[in-house]
Amino acid sequence: MDGHGVQPGNAGVGGIGGNAEGKYRALAYDTAVSTLLAVALYVVVKVSLDGFRQWRARISVLIVGSGPVGLTAALVAVRSGKVLKLTVLDERYRSALLCRPQQIALDPRSVKFLLGLGVDFDNMEGCWNNGHFFTRIGVFQEYLLSILEQKKQRVEVKVQLGTKFSEEYLRRIPHSSWPRVIVVADGSCGDSCSVLGISSDYSVESCHAYGANATIERLDQRQVPTPEIRAHSLYFDLSAYGVEALREHRNPTAKSGFHLKIYGTFRNRYMALVCPSSDTKMVRFLRHTSNSSIMRNIFYQSFNAYKTDIEPRLNDVTLHHMQCSRRLFEIQLSHRRISAAYIEGDNAAVIVEGEAARVLNFDTGFGVNLGMRGLESVGTFIYRAATAVDQNDILEALSAKMQHSRQVAETFKHTGLSESMYE
Ligand SMILES: Cc1cc2nc3c(=O)[nH]c(=O)nc-3n(C[C@H](O)[C@H](O)[C@H](O)COP(=O)(O)OP(=O)(O)OC[C@H]3O[C@@H](n4cnc5c(N)ncnc54)[C@H](O)[C@@H]3O)c2cc1C
Repeated sequence: MDGHGVQPGNAGVGGIGGNAEGKYRALAYDTAVSTLLAVALYVVVKVSLDGFRQWRARISVLIVGSGPVGLTAALVAVRSGKVLKLTVLDERYRSALLCRPQQIALDPRSVKFLLGLGVDFDNMEGCWNNGHFFTRIGVFQEYLLSILEQKKQRVEVKVQLGTKFSEEYLRRIPHSSWPRVIVVADGSCGDSCSVLGISSDYSVESCHAYGANATIERLDQRQVPTPEIRAHSLYFDLSAYGVEALREHRNPTAKSGFHLKIYGTFRNRYMALVCPSSDTKMVRFLRHTSNSSIMRNIFYQSFNAYKTDIEPRLNDVTLHHMQCSRRLFEIQLSHRRISAAYIEGDNAAVIVEGEAARVLNFDTGFGVNLGMRGLESVGTFIYRAATAVDQNDILEALSAKMQHSRQVAETFKHTGLSESMYE
């Protein structure tokens, strides 16, 4: 009985303990669930708020220089969806900007990049050859300006031609209206970086090749876009100058001989002659000769041998239309050591693009493409600058941009000449 008497008692005590434990368990469970819910809610709200903030984030961008690179950068900016106000300036007036006679050759990678930005090549005067699109620089700029005009409904686009970027220009911008991003694309002669206090130190690096350029200006010829002509493995008979050994020391790994490219319109014809660096007698002779008529003769004969059938030959009378390098020179790529910077007081990020960032001392007819390579990271940069939470985010974005810029120069040094000249 006792046992029975105790049992219920025990059972009673055991029941009360079990209940309390159950309650604690339930309480702990409830607390865990509500904490989890609160954390989940916090995460959802934070992610949504961040997403909303990122989605809403819009900045003001200033582009200095309306060359092909500056205008393409402007297109990247309006397409990024992160720009509220875009100002594009150039010190040249519209007529001077658009009458530039040089032809540009957009290679397949640049064509793909531009197609991604909505460029419609069917609506631009030019011609196709081997995946490249050839047009005049002014035609290209005019086309880009017209697209920017169409984007005015979605983004406040202001194109200020005939306006020089200078200290005075900067002083006139009210502090509250300073752009968050400045893209400097003022070409190889621009000095906008120094206006912004950015060092003009360049790294000059050899492309391990020698080259020479020639230009022929014939005002009586047509200005229509023309595909380029290439010739490879060229050797020149310099026996008249005492250089006999024409095919000495052929390097089986390098593409031997000279590579020639004739490009531009019939009115502004350009020639680029290049060979991988070597120490053959011919190269040494052409590097050091003081007789400028030798190089002139090489270009003269090369042009007449490889020009298209429909354009006139150069002859003794028309030869004075041609200007050329006096001798072979080492091809070098100069690129800015500082191609991205942060202006702390004004909270502005600056990036440098196109020939303002990197330039060759040799015209390959590839210049615009090199500029386009740099622009491939501008969309991401603008996105990161617009959605940056703090200065750290901006600095990281600038650092990534600068790294990409260095990589563009590095890649050109290794494969640029083979892409643009040797193949
Ligand atoms: C003779 C010649 C032939 C060429 N042929 C070819 C070719 O066949 N294929 C090819 O791909 N490339 C060719 N190029 C190269 C091509 O023209 C350049 O690569 C290209 O123009 C560079 O573009 P960019 O926008 O960087 O600079 P730019 O075209 O030089 O544009 C810079 C702009 O910035 C403006 N600017 C400068 N300072 C200021 C300032 N302070 N304020 C406001 N605006 C300013 C200038 O007025 C200019 O309009 C050739 C170049 C030359 C000279």
